[in-house]
Amino acid sequence: MDSDGHFKFDNSYARELEGLYVPWKGAIAPAPAVLWHNAELAAELSLGAVDFGSFEAASILSGSRSPDGASPLAQAYAGHQFGGFSPQLGDGRALLVGEILDRNGQRRDIHLKGSGRTPFSRGGDGKAALGPVLREVLIAEAMHALSIPTTRALAAVATGEDIARDGIQPGAVLARVAASHIRVGTFQFFAARGEHEKLRKLADYAIARHMPELTARDNPYLALLTAVIDRQAALIAKWMGVGFVHGVMNTDNMTISGETIDYGPCAFIDAYDPGAVFSSIDHGGRYAFNNQPAILQWNLARFAETLLDLIAPGDHDAAVRLATEEINLVPEKFHACWLAEMRGKFGLVTAADDDETLIAGILGWLAAGRVDYTGFFRTLTDAVSVGEPPWFEHWQARLGEGADRTAAARLMQQRNPIYIPRNHKVEEALRAAVQQNDLAPFRQLLDLVTHPYEQVPGMEEFEGPAPEGSAPCVTYCGT
Ligand code: AMP
Ligand code: MG
Repeated sequence: MDSDGHFKFDNSYARELEGLYVPWKGAIAPAPAVLWHNAELAAELSLGAVDFGSFEAASILSGSRSPDGASPLAQAYAGHQFGGFSPQLGDGRALLVGEILDRNGQRRDIHLKGSGRTPFSRGGDGKAALGPVLREVLIAEAMHALSIPTTRALAAVATGEDIARDGIQPGAVLARVAASHIRVGTFQFFAARGEHEKLRKLADYAIARHMPELTARDNPYLALLTAVIDRQAALIAKWMGVGFVHGVMNTDNMTISGETIDYGPCAFIDAYDPGAVFSSIDHGGRYAFNNQPAILQWNLARFAETLLDLIAPGDHDAAVRLATEEINLVPEKFHACWLAEMRGKFGLVTAADDDETLIAGILGWLAAGRVDYTGFFRTLTDAVSVGEPPWFEHWQARLGEGADRTAAARLMQQRNPIYIPRNHKVEEALRAAVQQNDLAPFRQLLDLVTHPYEQVPGMEEFEGPAPEGSAPCVTYCGT
């Protein structure tokens, strides 16, 4: 939407990838109203002049009305869910409205989640409930503020409709923005069907859109694999740095762009617990906190499999060898990214050989004492004494003196947030929104987690974990 209320669309996915999606329209919302919108992101998208309070904006952002220039569509994708392959998932409750070029010339998808049934809905109702929509706003925007690549939240729109979820819940649509919504599962959909031409078109499109510099490579498809490995390794390392558990790292929830996507049963850890699981359905701990790097490699191997015919046409053995070499590098690449994240958290401006020993020792100590992860690093950052655990002297010596110490303090202030979306605070905010129609706690929490490094006097209750004795956090899929 420009000042006349119009998006300036340029819909490359619809134009270039016919056969990879179904043209579709959103359901009519009975009484759409924008409950929250992201003014900063809107400005970035040149939507600064839009009146988000208007019926027109609410109609467009709920999917009720298709704006001029849009080519709304449901994308086809497959995916491994908890290790089992589902050949047909796709946008079952979402619409890609279209793409726009943002103020920096970057192509961004305008995407709606909860906009009604599509040909991919299977048994689902195509809808989303208000609580999970606001939850995605909080977590996605907190992730962005923590410098973690993510889809962004543009608006939360009430539909005015009641939907059936654990009783009756207010329905809502999330308008979100991403560099693209191409997933590992998008490649799997066409690979599984043996649709080689479509797969090649998708790969060429993904390269042109996300890594145009690879087009000129000898083997652009192998380079695509490497680029996705690099982005995803860096991404998961950042998750581990802030204590984020995605909760449903299925291959349909892993992007080619390297952005975090689909905030369902995700949560930030309070107490440091390598085995932390929040999702009510993750009984085996497949997507537990410390298992995320292993799943990263597993998912990337599934991605590599889809590219084999492109990597070395007609020479399967060579393709497998080349792809395997790349996949074997994943742990090493992840580890390098992770070490860099952890060094930042500890204020280590330079690298030393025994940093790993130091970090492993401290994490072991945190796990044994079930110490609050975010709070611990902020305590270190504020240089408050934490007693004298065995690693403390080693760490102090590594920091150095004088200017080194100042640099360390600065680095730590930038890497160790004060405010993350603590589970109990998220739940509190969503309860007020859904049960009392009161968005004030949601707005307050959003304001804190989107300025995670700026301490606000009087907001101490947002800094720590849930009070002792609180019920453990359980999160749910398919909400
Ligand atoms: P998610 O768990 O949100 O990543 O979704 C996994 C798959 O289930 C995707 O294909 C979604 O489109 C689909 N899905 C989730 N919820 C619904 C729903 N309420 N109606 C239809 N499809 C859904
Ligand atoms: Mg998903």
